[in-house]
Amino acid sequence: MEKFVLSIDQGTTSTRAILFDKHGMPRFVAQREVELIYPQSGWVEEDALEVYSSVLDVINEVLIKANVTPDMIDSIGITNQRETTVVWSKSTGLPVCNAIVWQSRQSQAICDALKNKEEFIHQKTGLIINPYFSASKVRFILDKYNLQKDAEAGELMFGTIDSWIIYKLTQGKVHATDITNASRTLLFNIFEQKWDDDLLKLFNIPKCMLPSVHECSYHYGDATLMFASTAIPIMGVAGDQQASLFGQACFNKGEVKNTYGTGCFMLMNIGETPVLSKNGLLTTIAWSYDNKVTYALEGSVFIAGASIQWLRDQMKLINKASDSEISAQKVNDSDGVYVVPAFVGLGTPYWDDNARGAVFGLTRATNKYHFIRATLEAIAYQSMDLIQTIKKDARINIESLSVDGGATANNYLMQFQSNILEIPINLPKYLETTALGAAYFAGLGTGFYESLEDIKKAHCIDKTFRPSMSSSEVKERYRKWKLAVKATRIFE
Ligand code: ADP
Repeated sequence: MEKFVLSIDQGTTSTRAILFDKHGMPRFVAQREVELIYPQSGWVEEDALEVYSSVLDVINEVLIKANVTPDMIDSIGITNQRETTVVWSKSTGLPVCNAIVWQSRQSQAICDALKNKEEFIHQKTGLIINPYFSASKVRFILDKYNLQKDAEAGELMFGTIDSWIIYKLTQGKVHATDITNASRTLLFNIFEQKWDDDLLKLFNIPKCMLPSVHECSYHYGDATLMFASTAIPIMGVAGDQQASLFGQACFNKGEVKNTYGTGCFMLMNIGETPVLSKNGLLTTIAWSYDNKVTYALEGSVFIAGASIQWLRDQMKLINKASDSEISAQKVNDSDGVYVVPAFVGLGTPYWDDNARGAVFGLTRATNKYHFIRATLEAIAYQSMDLIQTIKKDARINIESLSVDGGATANNYLMQFQSNILEIPINLPKYLETTALGAAYFAGLGTGFYESLEDIKKAHCIDKTFRPSMSSSEVKERYRKWKLAVKATRIFE
């Protein structure tokens, strides 16, 4: 009987279930959208029950479509949107309010009040004080709904989405999270690898609300799926970006992946010794496996693939995202045009909320194809900014870049990225690296996948893009990009 690992990928806008076979090949997929709720400007929420029911839906659908029975499932792996916060009642198992999504800014005032503790928090968590991370979201919920007493009495539970799914799939028997998700809460000491009492005190969050923390490959509990008599072990858990680093088989120090979606997320494996960034990168736990903790440096670009959506939806220059590649190739170069898509400010390494987008270098000869080409190039330049920052902090030479995400379908973008970084870019055969990472953690726990070496060997690269631009041209272009970025910040 053929067996599979069932990977659940709970993302911000959708939930997917994928069945992976012994070779790490995705064989069957089911997907459901999840609705985002915007109660006020800058607030982003989700109904945690809808999130859970989307998980059950995709599990049922994938099993039915694949004609696979629960006894053919070796184990379950879970990967999830990170930092999104759920608080629920221990007695009813129901959420006390909507989940607050990572992007949501409603706890900004709580973070502002702690600005003088930035360094203290950074030294313990590797993160910055920002509403993205879970701690201020929990504080916000306890304040808004007047729940501090209930929390202190042990009646409430906090969890990120992984924790919430584990709790529900185990019928409320297990309240746990994995170390990568814990490392994004702003409450976890990444050096000591435990919940930090000082941080809990700072946010006034009772420890009894918190889940227990485990390695990424661990027997979290058994999922009893509806109508199934067999319980399936939940064996792997990791936050989405860390799972993708693992799914890309970046097991060695110095290996880097970049995901080109709405934004970009770049993570570098920095090995077993954490390095704190001096340049606005986050230090985070990449994974804990086999009693060994591996760390990563992380940087992000806010607007990457989203700039292509902007070309399509606002500027009406293309009909669909893939047209951007055809358009870019209608001209020989971008004719000196630079587009800086700082629509919502700039991320790493600038961390500037006030910068706004701009276009430079327009001439009478500029046409829409130059404009589209320059917008694609901006995705590559922004990723160059990330890699330069990572190099500065980690002092590790980067030999190649592993990539995934929707915008990697664009060959022009990938080739230009390789040119400007002057290193090869590796595109894996299967782009489902996030779900695959969770499947690997689960399957390594049961022996379904044998070892990291085996996984590394089986990791298939579909295409490699090799640099083909002279160093002097790279330097000159990047110099101009930096000037263009600088100019978007002149209004401050
Ligand atoms: P997310 O997970 O953030 O929703 P995806 O990995 O699904 O993102 O990728 C979707 C993004 O990729 C969109 O922003 C879209 O504009 C961009 N994209 C998709 N195809 C292409 C393409 N051929 N060229 C450039 N960008 C693309």
